[in-house]
Amino acid sequence: MESNIPFLDIVTPHLELEEEFIAIFGQALRTGRFIGGPMVEGFEKDFAEYCNTKYCIGVSSGTDALRFALIAVGVKSGDMVITVPNTFIATTEAISQAGALPEFVDIDERTCNMDPQKLQDYLETQCRIDDKTGKPISKSTGKPVTAIIPVHLYGRTADMDSILEIAEEYNLITIEDACQAHGAEYFSRRDNQWKKAGSMGAASAFSFYAGKNLGAFGEGGAVTTDHGNIEHTIKMLREHGQQKKYIHEIEGYNGRLDAIQAGILSVKLKFLSKWNEQRRERAKKYNEFLSDIDEIKVPFEPEWTKSVYHLYVIRSEKRDDLQSYLTENQIGTGLHYPLPLHLQKAYSNLGYEKGSFPVSEKIALEILSLPMYPDITEEQQQRVVEKIKEWQRGK
Ligand SMILES: *Cc1c(COP(=O)(O)O)cnc(C)c1O
Repeated sequence: MESNIPFLDIVTPHLELEEEFIAIFGQALRTGRFIGGPMVEGFEKDFAEYCNTKYCIGVSSGTDALRFALIAVGVKSGDMVITVPNTFIATTEAISQAGALPEFVDIDERTCNMDPQKLQDYLETQCRIDDKTGKPISKSTGKPVTAIIPVHLYGRTADMDSILEIAEEYNLITIEDACQAHGAEYFSRRDNQWKKAGSMGAASAFSFYAGKNLGAFGEGGAVTTDHGNIEHTIKMLREHGQQKKYIHEIEGYNGRLDAIQAGILSVKLKFLSKWNEQRRERAKKYNEFLSDIDEIKVPFEPEWTKSVYHLYVIRSEKRDDLQSYLTENQIGTGLHYPLPLHLQKAYSNLGYEKGSFPVSEKIALEILSLPMYPDITEEQQQRVVEKIKEWQRGK
């Protein structure tokens, strides 16, 4: 009997670190520091260093990180914020929960990330410039467009130079959704250097949900930024708007990162570069094994990005059939994401129709995420590919 190949393995990478993890629980038990304290501060310092930013603020999830970042950069009720339709709903939930209206621009078919040309087109044709503020105003809603959230989907960075140039031209604030991109890199042509995901926008959001490249033993998130005022505001937002205990500058949230989770993350952070490198090697293997199958497109990695392959996503026009075949053969797969946000019932109020964002709609029908994790073996990958070849030959 062939054993099953899971879509995700979050057990194996922890096995050899068990003692270090138990020591974290021990430290929390002995000190009683469950909220805040040295483990949270230590992780924040280490993760800021890892991302090449001045600050990191630990929060309770990636969704909170996005929401707090939006509020802290000054997005207000009645604003509009641009993102892409093919992201996890947390990106747009955060926009709505900050009081703003999500607006979409379509993606580049090869990278599956925001297409800068479509961003430019949207701002040129769907907006007019306000004389007083210099900011674009949506012609259809009359509301100001104030920020952009590019998503580094699957661990591959968006084309940040082009997006940041457009943002500067139109006075927009950029927030990176780096929730799938811990450690990913982008080659900035204008600065002539490689930059870490999370170090390019005014603020950036990370998720430490268990299945992410850097995952907690539960929920967690962080915002990275170089701006002291943003750090200051997010520290208040995560703790009921207080700077001193029971003295509230603003209304905030209960959105802290637990000390135990921070301790766990510090242990795992030491291995993140190695694990990401293993993912990149595994991706290269898949590319090699799959190269002679005509019906399948392997992920595109432009020379200006180093993807960390949070997901390894292939494309096939007969995706549903292929996925069923792999499922029958005990191979775990996923769809990220099957229905673009503009077509979700939750956003029927935005009034989009089928055909509004054709590239996102097309790829949603073709994408298939294969098993990908640092410890997947070459034999396991070979079996996945063998089954794909078997499917292609007509079973
Ligand atoms: C995981 C994820 C989030 C949300 O993170 P949580 O920690 O689950 O709240 C946001 N955006 C993207 C692209 C994600 O993959």
